[in-house]
Amino acid sequence: MHPPTHRVTLRPHTPTSAPYTARAFALPWLPDGCPTSAPNWPDRDGHYPGPHTASVCPTCLPDHQRHATVSDPQRVTADTPMIYAVDVPTPTGRAKHPLLAILRGAGFTRLAWLPLPGLDNPRVLVADNPARGSRATLHPLGLDLHLTHPDSPARVHLRIGPRIDTTAVLDALHTTGHPTHPAPSAPALPPGARLLTADDAIHMITIGGHAGGHQPDLALDVALIDALRAGQILAALMPDDRLAFTPNPHA
Ligand SMILES: [Zn+2]
Repeated sequence: MHPPTHRVTLRPHTPTSAPYTARAFALPWLPDGCPTSAPNWPDRDGHYPGPHTASVCPTCLPDHQRHATVSDPQRVTADTPMIYAVDVPTPTGRAKHPLLAILRGAGFTRLAWLPLPGLDNPRVLVADNPARGSRATLHPLGLDLHLTHPDSPARVHLRIGPRIDTTAVLDALHTTGHPTHPAPSAPALPPGARLLTADDAIHMITIGGHAGGHQPDLALDVALIDALRAGQILAALMPDDRLAFTPNPHA
């Protein structure tokens, strides 16, 4: 299969409103028909699933049109992914998950669940950096990074997982010249203060084991315990044994 030069945009007739769901996505347009196999199908687009599934040709166009509005074929540059989100609702505010915050900070702004064929899950979270042609896919085995370096045509592929170490992600992005900003972290504490786990803080509040604990305010304590359990606030033990609270930057 020659690398397809055109893509069509599919806009499903019944869109879903779940977060990070693309309202439209692009598939390769193959005017000579979908082949039975496509050995050159790029890694970052999953695995070619066979004809008429992840590609569109004159034969299967009517089938695709049954569930989606299909655009006219558009010419794309050579390095364009086979499958990508076209119309993604722009997330507002700061990404709550540290990994998403890192990816968005590194220019991976086109973020959507996409049906990349051949992977274990029918849909994987795909984050594209359209300016660089880099892609990150999140799936049960971890995070696959397909990264380009501005000084080299080769694409680097590495997998971080199944546990995703954000430091390793930042390293990989940094070495390939993507802008990196550290993930939001716990607030800076004054010298001698110690960040407490929610359980430890709740225990100290419950037994009054802190300065101020001898004059308990039951209503306040209950509200604090609820907020700690919900992860909305963090507690720190100050050097003078007072408890201090701060909004959780991850919440
Ligand atoms: Zn086809």
